[in-house]
Amino acid sequence: MRLANLDGQPVVVDGDTAIALDDRVPPGADRFRTVIEQWPERTSPAALDAAPRRPIGGRALGPPMPRPGKIIGAPVNYRDHQREMQAEHTIAGLGFFLKSPTSIVGPDGAVPLPFAGRRTDQEAELGVVIGRAATDVSSVDALDHVFGYTCLVDVTVRGPEERSTRKSFPGFTPIGPWITTADELEDPTDLSIRGWVNDELRQDASTADMIYPVAELIELVSSVVTLEPGDLIATGTPAGVGPIVPGDVIRVAIEGIGELEIPVVSAGRDPHPLWLRGDTG
Ligand code: MN
Repeated sequence: MRLANLDGQPVVVDGDTAIALDDRVPPGADRFRTVIEQWPERTSPAALDAAPRRPIGGRALGPPMPRPGKIIGAPVNYRDHQREMQAEHTIAGLGFFLKSPTSIVGPDGAVPLPFAGRRTDQEAELGVVIGRAATDVSSVDALDHVFGYTCLVDVTVRGPEERSTRKSFPGFTPIGPWITTADELEDPTDLSIRGWVNDELRQDASTADMIYPVAELIELVSSVVTLEPGDLIATGTPAGVGPIVPGDVIRVAIEGIGELEIPVVSAGRDPHPLWLRGDTG
C-alpha cells in the first residue's frame, strides 16, 4: 500500500482515490506517526471499506511523513560517490549525521536555496521509514522494523561546515510522492534509483551498490539511537551529484516506489553572513 499526504491528511492512495486513515486519531497526536503505529488495524479490509474516499484529482501531495522524530543521514554510502567526492571515509569512519525534521517538504512544495554564491547539490536517495522501535537490532532482524520506502532528496550545501548545518535548511529534505509499504517491495537491496535535474539524467544506479545496505544501516544506527516509528533514514546517494539553481526541477525515480518531482526556487533571503564565508573564513 501507499501512505500519502492529501491536504495534510494521511491517506492510502489507490489509483486516483484517496482513502482517509485518520478518523479517531486523538487530538494533538501526530496523525502520520499514529497511522504508522496502528497500520494493521487502520488498513484492515473492514477498516478500509468503512473509511471515507475521495478523488485525488491530480492534486499535488504533501510530504508522506511531515515531521519525523528524526532524520538520520548516511554519508558516503556508494563507492562511485565516494570516488567522485574523493572521500577517504565511509560511515565506518564518519558516523551518521542528523538532519533537522523541519527540512521535510513534499511534492506540493519546493526547495528554497538560501545561497546564490555557494554550491548546493541534489542527492537522490532511497528513504527508509521506520515502523517499529529499534534499539540494538541485528541486520538479520532489521527489515522487520521498516514501515516502508520513499524517494528522497538530500539537498546539500557544499563546504566545510558540519553536515547537519549544510543539510538542514527548510525544504532540504524532499520526500514522496508517498511511502510504499515494505511488503510491496520484493527486495529493497536491488532497486533502480535515478535522479534528474531538468532533463539531465545525473544519477543512475542500483541500491545494490550501497556500501552499507539498509539492514546494516539500521543495525549501525540503532546501536547508537533508538529508532522510532516515523523516523526517516536517508541512505546515501550514488555518483552524479551536481549543482542546482533556482528554476531547476529535481526528479527522483525509484523502482517499485514511484517518482518525486520538486522545483528549486530562491529562498529570497540572505543567510547569516557567517555562512556566506564558506571555507574562506
Ligand atoms: Mn546524502
